[in-house]
Amino acid sequence: SDSHFPVPISPCHVDYSFHYPQLVSSDQVDSNKKIQFADVGCGFGGLLISLSTLFPETLMIGMELRDKVTEYVKERISALRATNPGQYQNISVVRTNSMKYLPNYFGKGQLSKMFFLFPDPHFKEKNHRRRVISPHLLDEYAYVLEIGGIIYTITDVEELGEWMNSCLASHPLFEALTVVELGADPVIKLLSTATEEGQKVARNGGQTFQAVYRRIVPSQ
Ligand code: SAM
Repeated sequence: SDSHFPVPISPCHVDYSFHYPQLVSSDQVDSNKKIQFADVGCGFGGLLISLSTLFPETLMIGMELRDKVTEYVKERISALRATNPGQYQNISVVRTNSMKYLPNYFGKGQLSKMFFLFPDPHFKEKNHRRRVISPHLLDEYAYVLEIGGIIYTITDVEELGEWMNSCLASHPLFEALTVVELGADPVIKLLSTATEEGQKVARNGGQTFQAVYRRIVPSQ
């Protein structure tokens, strides 16, 4: 249950020197460097590892509910740091329930990218409230995203893809990226290739459905 993992009481209580020891020293309590990317339900961490070298200056974190999976990602990152000195210092992982504790980790407008790759589908109507993309949770995501920040979603479940797209399309604080913008974004191709789930879907020849939206200022 939730009582088995610690939760920071506010974003200023997130221990940056623990997550990024080489980049943020423990006496640098007022460091301006903030986590900017969040991979929500990061699973085995493939996306973080790909993003780490693509955006070496950006601090990013994976949020994962399963204890063993989180421990695996921690070990994977430690091993990469050990064998590639100076690299993979900007990625970390935390065991948490993102649907409950996201505001404990990130302040208003802090994030520039949020990822929701192959989230659990929760097929039954009565379980839709457990989906990580919902009208209510999008209010929270809009709060922690900066203006212009991007939310990336992908799934191989068509019904969930339609659901995520329609939640985002109906929300006043999000607007879809255009085809040209999608083509220019180097992160897009990672959505279906970088994670373990994406690779599994690709191996099985499955179709994917993505929805990528930008945080905007509300129109008057
Ligand atoms: N994104 C990864 C990928 O593409 O390989 C993992 C996809 S997996 C199907 C969904 C993951 O979300 C699981 O690892 C699950 O434990 C995690 N998860 C589900 N609900 C969560 C929550 N409320 N907070 C954090 N992680 C959650």
